[in-house]
Amino acid sequence: MTYDAIVLGAGHNALILQAYLGKAGLRTLSVERRSQAGGGLSTMEDPRNPGFLHNPHAFFLRSVTSMPWFVDLELARHGVSLLEPELNVSLLTGDDRVLEWWTDIERTIESFARFNGADARALRRWHDEFVPIVSEILRWEASSPPLPAERRRELLMRSSAGRRLLEVSAASPLEFVLSEFEDPVIQAGLLFFNGLREVDLRARGFGHHIAALLASPSKAQMARGGTAQLARALEAAVRESGGEIRTQTEPSRILVEGGRAVGVLTDSGEELRAEGFVVSSLNPQQTFISLIDDRHLPADVVARAGSFRYNLLAPLFALHLNLREPLHYRATDDHPELEEAFMVIMGLDHVDQFNDIVSHHERGTRAPTVMWGASPTRFDESQAPAGAHTAFMWEKTPYALGGDPRSWDRHKDEHGDTMLELWRRHAPNLESAVIDKFTRSPLDVERSLHNMTAGDLLVGAFTDGQTGFDRPFPGAGGYRAPGIDGLYLCGSSSHPGGNVTGLPGYNAAQVILADLGAPGEWAPVPIEGRLAALGG
Ligand SMILES: Cc1cc2nc3c(=O)[nH]c(=O)nc-3n(C[C@H](O)[C@H](O)[C@H](O)COP(=O)(O)OP(=O)(O)OC[C@H]3O[C@@H](n4cnc5c(N)ncnc54)[C@H](O)[C@@H]3O)c2cc1C
Repeated sequence: MTYDAIVLGAGHNALILQAYLGKAGLRTLSVERRSQAGGGLSTMEDPRNPGFLHNPHAFFLRSVTSMPWFVDLELARHGVSLLEPELNVSLLTGDDRVLEWWTDIERTIESFARFNGADARALRRWHDEFVPIVSEILRWEASSPPLPAERRRELLMRSSAGRRLLEVSAASPLEFVLSEFEDPVIQAGLLFFNGLREVDLRARGFGHHIAALLASPSKAQMARGGTAQLARALEAAVRESGGEIRTQTEPSRILVEGGRAVGVLTDSGEELRAEGFVVSSLNPQQTFISLIDDRHLPADVVARAGSFRYNLLAPLFALHLNLREPLHYRATDDHPELEEAFMVIMGLDHVDQFNDIVSHHERGTRAPTVMWGASPTRFDESQAPAGAHTAFMWEKTPYALGGDPRSWDRHKDEHGDTMLELWRRHAPNLESAVIDKFTRSPLDVERSLHNMTAGDLLVGAFTDGQTGFDRPFPGAGGYRAPGIDGLYLCGSSSHPGGNVTGLPGYNAAQVILADLGAPGEWAPVPIEGRLAALGG
């Protein structure tokens, strides 16, 4: 069988791209080394405790239902259903106060006001000012192939919204929060959101991130039945489009003939041919160094791919619990609404903790625990046996603990106990509720998903210029791999980066179909025209 397109990896970005290509009439194949497609969209049954489901990678899916691909690929029809709890995020302080983010901004402002009136007013001001910036600029920039930085700046300078965006982004998230908000818990909570996106909070050029998050209608969602249900729906969309997904198949080489990518050689020696093109959803070192013989590539491309950097602060350590009863947080006595809390943050009381966390990451040591997570079964009983529950907490920990990631294999149980201790202080019934527990370290993440080098779940830092048109590296930012014809990129190492946004795959589909002379009618108005048309 010959294909028009072969896609390397079958995470969500690859599957989204594959489904769009299939709908455009192309014969597609994706090759995936694991036994199931979906990458970070996975759910597993605890082998020791049947019926308890856990989501070892992504869980909080940011407004997936409003993503253009969710709608275009009709994923609801393919069986996935998303829940969006109203009390979206709750930060529990050490003295049992609760800072709350609701899907309704008015309720969030009320919660801020209980901490600090001036901060509540600042929240409203930034929210209102950034709603149009998010809806007219940032949303479209994320879901379009990026523009060169100079051209983008020139276009943004033509409108008042664009100029304001450039002005606010000139600061770092830390500078933004310290200058605009007063209360240390609110400052810490806002920076936590920035940290969730793994952007270095000291890095200038990202000052708009927090204002954009405050204004964004996107809230955390979860998939009923577990995160893997989104992967199953994407697989169904791919198969309906005529696409094929081969699991347990690892490419050992991208085949290049006459300067053009023509297929892949698998590790079992099979040649899979692509008449049109090959697309990689893997990271730049995998794509350009492990899979392509360097005689096919200009030396500078090999060098730039080799120096692609990963996020210091992205690696996550996870503690998963099986519970015989729901957790009851002590703070619920004064805040009964916490019974319905979705994401819960603990251990974070002051903005200064972030500097401490960064320096622990730099040294490879463990900072005092700041963690966040949820109890999925509060909202979806299907993820545990009747009456029982699951819960998890994540903490950012260094990848190379004590200078060596393998140390995690010796220390992970002990680290899980440290997290459990903090959790128990907030939820006293935890002790008697736990049936069983297990942990996953940043090294376990890298072992499961080989593209997440150094446990970087965003598959590439946002520092060192690795953003926008220069992501993953200069010359490769338009989803076309430099140096080889017919080779494209579609994974999280490309704009706009990792997390379950599906936008690298969606944007790559726009570029590839335009190159084939058959742009999808679903594709948004080109970003250049959209920015040029902004008034004011
Ligand atoms: C612990 C953890 C928690 C997370 N939580 C969230 C969250 O709550 N919300 C959120 O939005 N995101 C979360 N993420 C991040 C999210 O999972 C990733 O950013 C996202 O999965 C990246 O999507 P992708 O399609 O680019 O790559 P992936 O999902 O990583 O898919 C890549 C695929 O390629 C395959 N592959 C790798 N190497 C090869 C090879 N050599 N040959 C063939 N196949 C290969 C992999 O097996 C994988 O299936 C989390 C990640 C982790 C690890």
